Amino acid sequence: MFDANLIESFFIQETPFYYYDLTLLQKTLSTAKQVADVHGFQVHYALKANFNDRILNLIREAGFGADCVSGNEVRKAIEIGFNAGDVVFAGVGKSDKEISDALDYDIFAFNVESIEELKVINALAADRGKKARVALRINPNVDAQTHQYITTGLDENKFGIAYWQLGDAVEVLGQSEHLELIGIHFHIGSQIIDLNVFKSLCVKVNELNNWFDERGFRLRVLNVGGGLGVDYHQPDVHPIPDFRSYFSIFNDFLERKPGQEVHFELGRALVSQCGSLISRVLYVKNGLKKNFLILDAGMTELMRPALYQAYHQIEKLTAATESDEEQLRYDVVGPICESTDCFGKEVPLPKCERGDLIAIRTAGAYGEVMASRYNLRDEIRYVYSPVLTDVSN
Ligand SMILES: *Cc1c(COP(=O)(O)O)cnc(C)c1O
Repeated sequence: MFDANLIESFFIQETPFYYYDLTLLQKTLSTAKQVADVHGFQVHYALKANFNDRILNLIREAGFGADCVSGNEVRKAIEIGFNAGDVVFAGVGKSDKEISDALDYDIFAFNVESIEELKVINALAADRGKKARVALRINPNVDAQTHQYITTGLDENKFGIAYWQLGDAVEVLGQSEHLELIGIHFHIGSQIIDLNVFKSLCVKVNELNNWFDERGFRLRVLNVGGGLGVDYHQPDVHPIPDFRSYFSIFNDFLERKPGQEVHFELGRALVSQCGSLISRVLYVKNGLKKNFLILDAGMTELMRPALYQAYHQIEKLTAATESDEEQLRYDVVGPICESTDCFGKEVPLPKCERGDLIAIRTAGAYGEVMASRYNLRDEIRYVYSPVLTDVSN
């Protein structure tokens, strides 16, 4: 991913910064879009993974819709130029203002997470003399086989409406003149690597699709959410996720009724691999039992390791010359005053010294967006690689 010229150009930059390979992003987007188109699937990009303007523009140009989880994300999507008709809005705690604004934008659908929220949207739509399109986010109790902090579809999670509440939800829908039920929605977790999990999801979606059909609801949309994982261990071997296998599963296992649309909400899978966090070694501490590499980037720039013990591949960018360079093991840490400010323990790396550049890979999703000013850190910086004007496969 990093050739000598690129590394040279990094040296004159102030660190730390995010580096985005927009060429890889465009290849990833065109691959995903092509495969989705084959099956007639629609994909909404989950803005929360990365809302950097250049990235959003490329995603919009590639023909994706937007999946938002806050009023500001809805506004951002509209400002970037996504059609309101391609915007969906999820979240367990939508405020009245966020709902009102989204109604005024006339977004495609609210993914509704509770019965109380249905009533609030109905009332706010009534105030405007509008009919709100809603999809019920249902918690299917499917184990995503991923880290407990990023699983969302189990009974114990706060997201969505439980099976036992569906009767009540349907009753409320029947009494709500300002709601139109357009579909059902699911999002069971993130960084899902075992594709069998999605087969289990399809089985649940089919059951519920029939349940609604039997009750006279002709659902237009089955929205199966996002969650497709990426390879954090071998970013150069798998720079683009296996969209073909992923979409095939839904094509093979979802039982679509005539005219039914299938929607997806991918975040991580589209943007992770195009981003790296580039940092400088400030100090090397050689201890009796451990060597520490102290970087100028920390959990304030990339919080995933501190937040949910996430693994990121760490590379030294200034090695290259001596092939038989001594390999050492380092605990790679940041400057923030927290013990969890650690990017990796016992990381094998060529011997490092002050001033070396370090790349933390697969950081395009849930990286820059989670940056904070804790310790009064500088605003996060970023640079882009050139964009391909024409991507052909
Ligand atoms: C976060 C989120 C997504 C995207 O998840 P990824 O794992 O990044 O694909 C999709 N839908 C909803 C409702 C979300 O909250």
